[in-house]
Amino acid sequence: SCMNSDVFGQNPSVDEESRVFLMAEDDPVDAEVFSSMLNKAFGDSYSVVCVDRFEKICDALSQGSFQALILDMDLPDRSGVDNVHQIGEKYPALPIVVLTGNEDLDLAIDSLQSGAQDYLSKNNVTPEMLARSVHYAKERKQVEQKLKSALDDAAYKNTQLESQAKHDPLTGLANRSYFQDIATRVLMRADRKNLRAALLYFDLNEFKKVNDTYGHLAGDELLRQVSQRTKEVVRDSDFLARIGGDEFVVITDTLANKQEAYPLVTRILNQFDQAFNVGIHEIVVSCSVGVAFYPEADSLDLLIKQADFAMYEAKSSPHTSLCFYSEKIAEQYARTQKIETLLSRAIEKEEMSAVFQPVISTKNASEIHVEALVRWHSESIGTVRPDEFIAIAESTPAINGITQVVTKESQALASAIQNSGLTLDKISINISASQLASKHFCKLFFQWLDDRLLKPENICLELTERQIIQSINTCKEQFEYLRKKGIKISLDDFGSGFSSVTHLLDLPFDTLKLDRILINFIDQNPRNQALVAGIVEMAHRLDMDVVAEGIEREEELRFATELGCDYLQGYFISKPLQLNETALFYGSRK
Ligand code: C2E
Ligand code: CA
Ligand code: CA
Repeated sequence: SCMNSDVFGQNPSVDEESRVFLMAEDDPVDAEVFSSMLNKAFGDSYSVVCVDRFEKICDALSQGSFQALILDMDLPDRSGVDNVHQIGEKYPALPIVVLTGNEDLDLAIDSLQSGAQDYLSKNNVTPEMLARSVHYAKERKQVEQKLKSALDDAAYKNTQLESQAKHDPLTGLANRSYFQDIATRVLMRADRKNLRAALLYFDLNEFKKVNDTYGHLAGDELLRQVSQRTKEVVRDSDFLARIGGDEFVVITDTLANKQEAYPLVTRILNQFDQAFNVGIHEIVVSCSVGVAFYPEADSLDLLIKQADFAMYEAKSSPHTSLCFYSEKIAEQYARTQKIETLLSRAIEKEEMSAVFQPVISTKNASEIHVEALVRWHSESIGTVRPDEFIAIAESTPAINGITQVVTKESQALASAIQNSGLTLDKISINISASQLASKHFCKLFFQWLDDRLLKPENICLELTERQIIQSINTCKEQFEYLRKKGIKISLDDFGSGFSSVTHLLDLPFDTLKLDRILINFIDQNPRNQALVAGIVEMAHRLDMDVVAEGIEREEELRFATELGCDYLQGYFISKPLQLNETALFYGSRK
């Protein structure tokens, strides 16, 4: 029979396997009828707690747990489906069977939608029906709960996935696509506030070298540490992302003027002042930063592009690690693009040719060498300097085409000289280390050579030290091969700041060409005088000749000679000459 809720109140610690039903029914007769039905259906080991007010339901539920709630929706203190809803929210594990006073189907459906698991009409209940209903309500509740936790789980997983889709797993920073979302909003905010935004694009210099030297794990760790340091130097209102291998971006808005971006740029650059501790290594890296501004760049795409250009500009200029985007860079970039496209057809269009610059001996006045230098006159953009296109050509097949043209014209010069009865000294041809790194090139080169015009012993190949250092090992074999054939090899631009003496000793060069930076105003620069004297002495001990290039003044000629250089080249002696002019120069000196 029906126990009083107060009795239950003295025994609140009912466990999960509770054998107690809670009944909310204000009509005492109904309460007695349904209680005895429950007892009949479930047996004596079950009991029923009865309450007659909504408020008391909550009291009872807060004190213990129940098999199920049998609920009359119309209680004196509160009525309606909202009762079901309230209890369902607060006690999500409790099965609820609703008792209705009439056959109102709408109300029944409402109560189910509000969280009841089943309903019964009071007028039409048997103990069996009540038992089935309670069983059914319990089952249904369980299924609902499982479903709910599965759904919650899925929702959790979705947020996880979403976060993974937005973040770079290595550093935890935002990735490119998330950055684009946020940056778009940042630009809108800048519009609204009528302020500027700046985009900083930076990457690590020679990151590849870190990977090659210390391994990829160390490289990854370095990227993590760079991310960490950068996070600390950007403000909360700035947005940082990693958008590629070692490429990072920061977007910052609310700038009243461009200068306000400087402190951030400075903090980013300064974080590289201190070495990074990666495992047992102390790694020192630097970075290059490019900066572009909104609304000068009026879309996000353009802003990214401009900051990227600026970064490349910063990277390619040796004296700065920072560059702000400007029209000038844009023009340079456009020109570089143009050169790249035009280059591939320049050779077949016969736009390339060679000029020759004499090189004289300080020991023997009748010994005359020449250096062949490529010239490009483009039909559409006019004269393009080698400095502008050689670096681009180096990563394309055009570089071989260039050498082929220069070799051909060198042979034409050689035969012109020999045809006038003069003995030929050496002709130097510049090649790129990327060419020498391939065996294919050596084969090609000998195919281009016609022995009757130009013999290997009259050829010197010039390589710049900058390139040699990048591919020293792959060059060695070809190096030996060429020298065995009688070709001499010269190390160009020595002293321009890249090489170390170790590299010199590693490859058997015949000649060392001092960079013109060492020769420029050498008469007024005691330090360079000492340097050149030292280099000359070392080179001679290693059996190498020394060429001083870039002689523009008489004093430079005098000092270079006195310091022991074997050969001289420069505007003071002769500018690069056309083929027939070169032959004339040759004839006048021999
Ligand atoms: P480089 O081999 O150091 O060539 C010397 C450069 O200095 C030439 O510039 C020459 O015109 C210039 N020069 C000569 N004397 C003086 C002087 O007294 N003062 C000054 N200020 N400059 C002088 P150019 O012809 O513009 O060549 C630039 C560079 O392009 C060359 O530097 C060389 O590294 C590369 N290059 C030229 N032709 C070829 C080629 O056929 N193949 C390859 N791979 N590179 C080439
Ligand atoms: Ca050269
Ligand atoms: Ca040079």
